[in-house]
Formats: sequence, C-alpha cells, structure tokens
Amino acid sequence: MIKNTITGFPRIGKSRELKFALEAFWSSKINADDLQKQAKELRLKHLEYQKKAGINLISSNDFSFYDGMLDMIVLLGAIPQRFADISDETKRYFTMARGDEKRAAMEMTKWFNTNYHYIVPELSKSTRFSLNPAKVLKEFKEVKEFGVNTKINLIGPLTFLSLSKSTDGSDVYTHFEAVLNVYEQLLKEIEKLDDKIFVQLDEPIIVTNLNGAQKEYLAKAYERLSNVSQKVNIIVTSYFDYVDKDVVETLSNTKIWGIGLDFIHGRENLDNTKALKDKYLIAGVVDGRNIWKNDINTTLELLEIISSNVQKERVIISTSCSLLHTPYSLENEDKLDGKVKSWLSFALEKLDEVSLISKLFYKEALSEKEISLKDANAKANVSRKNSSKIHNAALQERLKSFTNTQREAPFNERIKIQKKILDYPPLATTTIGSFPQTAELRALRSSFKKGKISESEYEVGIKKYIDECVKIQEDIGLDILVHGEPERNDMVEYFGEQLNGYAFTQYGWVQSYGSRCVKPPLLFGDITRINPMSIKWITYAQSKTSKIVKGMLTGPVTILNWSFVRDDESKSNVARQLALALNDEISDLQNAGIKIIQVDEAAFKEGYPLRKSKKLSYEKWALEAFKLAVSSAKSQTQIHTHMCYSNFNDIIKTIEAMEADVISIETARAGNKILKIFEEVGYNQEIGPGIYDIHSPRIPSVDEMTNQIKALLEIFPKEKLWINPDCGLKTRKWEEVVPALKNLVKAVKSVRKY
Ligand code: GLN
Ligand code: ZN
Repeated sequence: MIKNTITGFPRIGKSRELKFALEAFWSSKINADDLQKQAKELRLKHLEYQKKAGINLISSNDFSFYDGMLDMIVLLGAIPQRFADISDETKRYFTMARGDEKRAAMEMTKWFNTNYHYIVPELSKSTRFSLNPAKVLKEFKEVKEFGVNTKINLIGPLTFLSLSKSTDGSDVYTHFEAVLNVYEQLLKEIEKLDDKIFVQLDEPIIVTNLNGAQKEYLAKAYERLSNVSQKVNIIVTSYFDYVDKDVVETLSNTKIWGIGLDFIHGRENLDNTKALKDKYLIAGVVDGRNIWKNDINTTLELLEIISSNVQKERVIISTSCSLLHTPYSLENEDKLDGKVKSWLSFALEKLDEVSLISKLFYKEALSEKEISLKDANAKANVSRKNSSKIHNAALQERLKSFTNTQREAPFNERIKIQKKILDYPPLATTTIGSFPQTAELRALRSSFKKGKISESEYEVGIKKYIDECVKIQEDIGLDILVHGEPERNDMVEYFGEQLNGYAFTQYGWVQSYGSRCVKPPLLFGDITRINPMSIKWITYAQSKTSKIVKGMLTGPVTILNWSFVRDDESKSNVARQLALALNDEISDLQNAGIKIIQVDEAAFKEGYPLRKSKKLSYEKWALEAFKLAVSSAKSQTQIHTHMCYSNFNDIIKTIEAMEADVISIETARAGNKILKIFEEVGYNQEIGPGIYDIHSPRIPSVDEMTNQIKALLEIFPKEKLWINPDCGLKTRKWEEVVPALKNLVKAVKSVRKY
C-alpha cells in the first residue's frame, strides 16, 4: 500500500554538484560521458535519501539537465527549426537552452509564481511531433533496479500547451490532437515496463482560472489517457493554489487513479475532497515552497478533516509541490542562529516529515528516532510561536499609528515644486542604479566579509569605486547621477542583512534556471531597522559632485517577494513592517540632503497570485506597503521607482496609485506597442522607458537611440519623459557601459535640438 510520496526532488545536489558538472561540461573540461556519469551518481544518491527516509513512491524522471519543460519538448519531438540541423543530441539540448553564435536561445520565463524558470515551447503551423522516450524509459529502469516503487514524472498535455507560445500567430491548441497522440504512444511504451506503473502528470495550469476551451481539452485528454492501459495508473497533480470544483469533478469522472491537491497554498481544496469519487488523493500537506518545520499536530488535524470525505486508505501524504523550490539540507548550516535553525526544514528534512506524518496518520509504530523527531517538532513549533526573536510588541504598536500613507501633496503640485528645485531638463538622462560589478569589486567585498581586510580598507575601496563612478558619469554628461551600488552583492540581501528579523543560510541554494541557483534570505521575525542602511555611501557620492545623486533603495514588496516568507504572519503585515523600515530610511536620506530617491520594485508584478479572486487583495496590500514606504518623502523629494518589465496593461492604475513621481521600466525588449497603455489611460506621472537592452553586450548606436527617443516622443510629452537604460548595469563591463551611455547622451542632445 502506498502511504506517502514526494511530488519531486531537487536535482542540483547538496553541494550544487549538478551546477559544477554542467559548467565543466559547457567549458569542455569534461565530456558528455563524464556528465552522464556524475548525473547518475547524483540521482542514485537522491534515491538513497528518499528510500532511507521511508518514502513509498519515489519519482523517476524528476531529474533534468536543464529544465523539465525542455525535456518535454524533446520527449514530444517539438524541436524548433533553427536547432534541427544539430545532430548531436546533447549539444542540441543545451543549444536550445542557451543559444550559440548562430542561434538565439529559446525563451525562458517564470514557472507560475515561483522564481524557477522554464523553457517556453515554440509552436507554429509547421511543428511536427514525434515520440522520443529514451530518457523517461532509462530513468524509470534506473529506479526500478534500485528496488523501490516509482512513478514517472511528466508535465501534462494541458499545461504543456497552455505554456507554449505560438511563433506564427496560430493557435497553440490546434496541436492538441497531435500532442495527445504522442502522450498516448508514450503510455503504450510505458505499459511494457511492468505490470503496474504509476505516471504523474503535472497540471499546475489547473490552479489558474481556466477558460471553457481549456476545460474541454482537459476532459478529453484525461478521458483518453486514462483509457490507454489498465496497467498504467495516472496521477494528475496540481500545485501552488486550489483547483475549481468542476475541474476536479471532470477529472474524477475519468479513469485516472489519483489527483494531487495542494492544501498549503490552496486551502480551498478542502472543499474538493468531496468531489473525488473513487480517486486516490495525493494530499500536499508539507510545504514544498517554504523552509519552515511542518506543524505536525496541525497537519494531522487537517488530515482528519480530509479523511471525513475521503476514505483513509485513499489518502497519500505528500509535499505541496516538488521540493525543487526548497534548499537541499540544513545539515551544514552551522552559522545559523540555533533557535532559528531549529524551526527550519529543507528538502532532506521534509522527507522525514512526510514519512513521519504518514506513520502517525496510519497509526504505525514509530522508531525511537521517529519519536524524538516528533517531540522535537512539537517543541520547535511551540518555541517559534512564543519566541521574542520573532515578536516585537513595540514595532507593532508603532505601526498602528501609520494610518495615513498619502504623500503631503498630490502629484500635480509635487512635480511643480520638484522641477523648480531639481531643475532638470526635458528628456533628463539617468541610469537605474548599479554600475559594472568588476572582479576587483567582488574580491573586495568578499575579503571584507571573510575578515581578511579591515573595515577602513574596505571603505577606501568602495569610496574609490564611487569616486570613479561619479567622475565617469560627469564626463559622459548624464543629468542625474547614482553612486553605482558597489557595496551591494544583491539588492535584497544587502538590506536584509541590516534588518532584524532576517537570517541567511550558507548553502540554501535553490535552482533558478539551468545551472543558476539563488539563495533567498529567510524572513523569520518582525522587521526593524537597526541603523541607517544606505546613507553613508549615497551621501559620500553626493559630496563628490555638484550634480544630483539619486539614492537607491529596494522596495518592500520586492524584498518580501524575493525572500522565504513567514507562514505565521500575513504577507501584508510583513510588507508593512518592511515599508516602515524603508520609510525611516527615506526620511534619513532626505534629511541628509538627498533630493531624489529611487525605490526599486523589480518583483512587484511577479508576486501577483495565480487566482483572479486573490489578485485584488495582493494589489491592495502591495500598493499600501509601497505608499507607506514613500510617505515620509516631502513634496520636494522626488521619488522614483523601477520595474523590470513593461507589460502593465492590467495593473496600470495600481502603478499610478503608487505615488512615485517617476517610473523607469524595461521596454527595450518588449517594444513600444506595449507603452500605448500609458497613453490610453492618460498616465499622469513621469516615465523613463528603458531605451536600450542592458541584457546584451551590444552597444547601441546614436542613430538607433535617437530613433527610439523620437518614437517615445510620439507617446509621451518631452517634459514627462526620462531617458535611461532599461535596467541596472551591474552585469555589464565598463567597456560596454561607457560607450553605450555616451551614445545615449549624444542621442538625447540631438533630439533636444528639435
Ligand atoms: N537599482 C538596481 C540596479 O540597478 C535595480 C535592479 C533591478 O531592478 N533588478 O541594479
Ligand atoms: Zn530592472
């Protein structure tokens, strides 16, 4: 009997072994066989962990060299034409992901509301599909040989098609039949493998608001797939939010074996337990996206509620989604505060939790180790609830008094005062904040962090960078300068490190895309600012020039969205706490003579929930948090914000309501069409649509930028238009940045003459 499972396991390895193997392969330090060998070792290690923890049904094919969606593209044979001539399969696979001199890489975008990126399938009228099952079959056999029960993980047909893009304007669903045929063929191949085989088809798309056509495709797909073979047990898995009841009913009417529902991020799924008929429920009750110890007693209560609607024998304990989204293990985190560490659980620790919960739920005898695990769990949860590290009464009291988040005067009045004091020309030129992060600079920060150099030596180094950065900007002739952000390794970590309530791991890496991992900070308690966070460097830069230096902060919503968040406090309250810390910072900057302050909200949009019904409340608290942060700015202090995207169609009114005076956005790759919305709604504030793409090393010419500025002037009056690159310059080299910015200034000068 299967009592527990894991949606999927992280691939990257405890010490990011996969990352290093991939990068060694890409730079030809190892060959394809070595890469395969190392990957296999890693997979076997992961099987071992899961088996040891007591997981009953272990995934195969949850491994990927780059991304599971890319693997599906290969499996279905949907290789875009430009890669068709590459005969070496490994080479073709990585070229699709990363491009080469001749071929653009396939587009990559965020997987639902996570920070994981998948490769977007490209479909057109000429796309043909054909089955390529080698990887799936091989990895199944590998797990079988290992001697455990396995399920084959795949992305389901509706999610695959819904996330595909059309390259010729044709409807991607015209491929439905063809795609489904390949899935059917695959199941027929799989059928040959054993007497009884489990296949997990991930359909996270069903937690979004599906349209009628999508619902019909879903019904047809599972009607057909569940009829392919009696030997194949199909599990349709959802995660990240709840599924509509009619969708669950549709699935329950087919012959699939089980349905996976997320009870952590979609509590509403409780109602769906009534609609499961004879299906097994893969109950996502251990959070796959966060790092807190499960509260096992509460989980058992939840499971009791669930089993009032579902026969107990049909409940399978699982994670809410793949553990891909959590760091690997707490084992080596010896620098974390002991208390904080006792509250945490990463992927490996979550395996034990799933196993323990299933034993408790099924009333099986516990080993001694399990008994102590259970006690430790209860203790940790009590200690976390009552800890003074987390709860700060004074802060909560202070926050209550911040009821008015309106700025002193409305925009139309503020901007008149600002223009008088700041005296910048039409088409004012500026940058988004960071300048090239050189190897020398990284070395400086890291030596300081490791205690190899003194604070004063560090300061000398940072000041030298700022001096040069200011000088270069003056020489180029930019209007509004920045200090260049040399002291920051990351726009969230830098602020997190200076706030109470934040903790940092040493090895808490989570795959972001391909070999790239991020290490999100942990937001565990009430947030308070210890000291001013940015004043020193910004006022230093200002002292070095008679031009205006723009102060740089990361906004409350972005800090929140790029951290692991609390599950014992609402996001809206945490955002208010972060906002208050920034409110104090802005006040200090202003008092120190800084006249323009930019509050970056790079991740404002990605925090939007997947469900329409939840969007409104996000929008409300996110907006309030930003407004609270900037409400300490006097009318004469100009507030800028920056967002790393430009598709504002559905949120333009929210953006306008944020009370920033100027917004810079990333338009260069998306094209100007997208800007029409600003004209249509009569957007009131000033705006700097990035006029060149900083994500590429290419240096745009004066002509090109002149034309772009002229095109922008057809949409915006020159008094409202700022001219800047489309994001921070930290990933570029000085040799690219200086000529590009010189050209930008030349272009502006030539347009100003008209
Ligand atoms: N000020 C930041 C920088 O220039 C903004 C980065 C971002 O939006 N991602 O690096
Ligand atoms: Zn940006």
